[in-house]
Amino acid sequence: MIPSTFAYDRAESVAEAIEKLQSAGGDGKLLAGGHSLLPLMKLRLTSPAKLIDIGRIAELHGIAQVGDAIAIGALTTHAAVASSTLVKEKLPVLVQAASQIGDIQVRNRGTVGGNLAHADMASDLPAVALALDAEFAVATPDGNEVIGVEDFFIGPMVTALPEYSMVTNVKFKLPPAGAMQVYEKVPHPASGYAVVGVAAVVAVAADQTVNYVRVGMTGAADVAYRAKAVEDALMGHAFTEAAIDEAAKFAAVDGSIAGDLYASEEYRRNLCVVHTARALKRLLNA
Ligand SMILES: Cc1cc2nc3c(=O)[nH]c(=O)nc-3n(C[C@H](O)[C@H](O)[C@H](O)COP(=O)(O)OP(=O)(O)OC[C@H]3O[C@@H](n4cnc5c(N)ncnc54)[C@H](O)[C@@H]3O)c2cc1C
Repeated sequence: MIPSTFAYDRAESVAEAIEKLQSAGGDGKLLAGGHSLLPLMKLRLTSPAKLIDIGRIAELHGIAQVGDAIAIGALTTHAAVASSTLVKEKLPVLVQAASQIGDIQVRNRGTVGGNLAHADMASDLPAVALALDAEFAVATPDGNEVIGVEDFFIGPMVTALPEYSMVTNVKFKLPPAGAMQVYEKVPHPASGYAVVGVAAVVAVAADQTVNYVRVGMTGAADVAYRAKAVEDALMGHAFTEAAIDEAAKFAAVDGSIAGDLYASEEYRRNLCVVHTARALKRLLNA
């Protein structure tokens, strides 16, 4: 449980962090809250020669409404998100997910940028990012770029972030006025990570038919995914228990789901169906 030797450096700005990453070649890693990176280093699953601490870069903190989105700085902690009045008012699904991450120590140290850039298959925030059409502001050696959430998550712990780049902030889009939002999670009994997590956003028209729906899934598959088959089955239909049960049957269709030591593939698929139905019914009965 002791990591291999590494050098420690600190960046005072985003530009400096990118420069230091570049000069470390492929052997440097950014250090944010350290709550995913350090456990991996202790297990020697990764052994970077240099850690570049970004924890004191002031511009990476903060939560603000920017147009039709809530922009959250990459270094903003899960605890800050969970207690934000703005996020509570506008994006309760994000507050519900952030407040269920790990324990209080993890929430006080872990960051939004670190969580999403790490892309653990069982992290909570990827499901919410998918349900809220998030956009990632990314600083690269060649300038800034924006990556949409549907292009961001590629595989287990693999994202579309270019070499020597970093997430500077994440914009979570505000759903249409009146949309209902919920995060439903089955936590792993030991770690608290999501065995399955479902983020759902639904709006209904005056005649009670669904006119907006997003369902983001995490935990069950090798990478978080949007349950588009569920969305398609609900869109334009009356929002009823029967319609939810019918649509939730498709909750595992869009994910690449396999079994592991903790749960079989069949069990994970069933969890997707059961908890998607539960999430949607929580909205129906709210
Ligand atoms: C006991 C325990 C329980 C946990 N339970 C949960 C849980 O229930 N749900 C959950 O979602 N998470 C859980 N976590 C993980 C936690 O949310 C972490 O905070 C998060 O995954 C990583 O954030 P971090 O700031 O600690 O990143 P770090 O560990 O510092 O970094 C993680 C990775 O992301 C990279 N990185 C960091 N910031 C950036 C950036 N701005 N741009 C690009 N790359 C970056 C790093 O180089 C590293 O590769 C748990 C962790 C622990 C230790």
